[in-house]
Amino acid sequence: ANPASLVQVLFHLGEMVTATASVSDEVLELLGQEMNYRVQVVSPEEEDRALLESFDIEFGDPGDEDALAARPPVVTVMGHVDHGKTRLLDTVRKANVREGESGGITQHIGAYQVSTELEGVERLITMIDTPGHEAFTAMRARGAKSTDIAVIVVAADDGVMPQTVESINHAQAADLPIVVAVNKIDVEGANPDKIRQQLTEYNLVAEEYGGDTMFVEISAKQGTNIEGLLEAILLTADAALDLRANPDMEAQGVTIEGHLDRGRGPVATVLVQRGTLKVGDSVVAGDASGRVRRMIDEHGEDVTEALPSRPVQVIGLTSVPGAGDTFLVVDEDRVARQIADRRRARERNAELASRRKRVSLEDLDAALKETNTLNLIIKGDNSGTVEALEESLMKLDVGDEVDLRVIHRGVGGITEGDINLAIADNVIVMGFNVRAEGKATELATREGVEIRYYSVIYQAIEEIEAALKGMLKPEY
Ligand code: GDP
Repeated sequence: ANPASLVQVLFHLGEMVTATASVSDEVLELLGQEMNYRVQVVSPEEEDRALLESFDIEFGDPGDEDALAARPPVVTVMGHVDHGKTRLLDTVRKANVREGESGGITQHIGAYQVSTELEGVERLITMIDTPGHEAFTAMRARGAKSTDIAVIVVAADDGVMPQTVESINHAQAADLPIVVAVNKIDVEGANPDKIRQQLTEYNLVAEEYGGDTMFVEISAKQGTNIEGLLEAILLTADAALDLRANPDMEAQGVTIEGHLDRGRGPVATVLVQRGTLKVGDSVVAGDASGRVRRMIDEHGEDVTEALPSRPVQVIGLTSVPGAGDTFLVVDEDRVARQIADRRRARERNAELASRRKRVSLEDLDAALKETNTLNLIIKGDNSGTVEALEESLMKLDVGDEVDLRVIHRGVGGITEGDINLAIADNVIVMGFNVRAEGKATELATREGVEIRYYSVIYQAIEEIEAALKGMLKPEY
């Protein structure tokens, strides 16, 4: 059908469009019906699942319940800048240096494992070696679940800061149990109790206060109580999570980082999430494929097998996968190549189809019919206005049919972190007397995230109210 006749059909269906306009998924389906085609609108995730299914592969299939075995927790360290995330990761890494390791240097491969003793049993913990929530949210935005537990680092001499709150929001949005590391207790004027007090506001109530969040006082610089922190991580994992995976399957997992090494070619660090990864396996990671020629651990040593929760560098891929790309083992090189080729073709097409569109106030209807929830991120120039805006929005009378949720709020410009959170959760980002910072606008445009700027509160409220009312208008 040519564009003109499509426009005509749509016109009869009561939709006014021009030939170059993009139409909603619903309109597409309607159009299909009218013209006797079966039109099915699928998300990229569904498309990928279908692609794998055509090779008889199900990503994330846990396998036989009987074969599940305990696996170590995977931890991401988040918190405000300068509160000691990097130092903590370094200290933990150094505490784990193996005897005889050349110069005692552990390599940075994107994640590492430490072992610690809990109740007389030697246990492992996997630490993601990129501090901050940016990497975490970027992965999550791509649908990858890389982390089991978040450690939120708060400097006891500084207290809860904007990025502390942002980190908590990200962790809570992903449903991660949180352990609070109260850092820099060696500094004069450090006040750990103030941190406990402040964090109750964010639903993190210390065990000492009758809550269920573990707060651990540490000094990353002096190495104080690192064992206590590792113990708290394990206790939290044991209490809140059932971390098991089947080691007897073909491996699957997520790519943590990738780069091109001049000597070794494409190098990717992958985190095994189920099964056992072995040298010689045929693998696909995102749109890269190949065979595992070598695997290297965080000690720079060659390994031949990697069990669930184990990070390893993989050498042998034909190109570099991106952080957050899934990886999986397949039966033959040929299958790996075919899946990679199809994914690459799909990405090219998606790029050609240019900008993806997610939610905009104008066509919220479709998105909201599914969930009936409007998610917002509010950023403003001071905490007073942000709170005032949130409060007024929460007072909007929208009936029982619609849910208005503020999933994140904060003082300061709109950051890439905000946009990443918006991608993951389909939200509108509201900026009150602030602008987007750095590459945030670029990212938002690329991902089709809607940013709205305001300088008058009632205007912001009116717009959101109108959008909500629009959602409730009767269908015809
Ligand atoms: P990040 O931005 O959160 O990764 O923070 P860094 O790990 O880079 O730490 C910021 C600064 O705080 C550095 O100068 C660290 O040496 C220092 N620092 C980190 N932990 C401690 C601590 O426990 N005590 C003291 N006194 N300084 C610390």
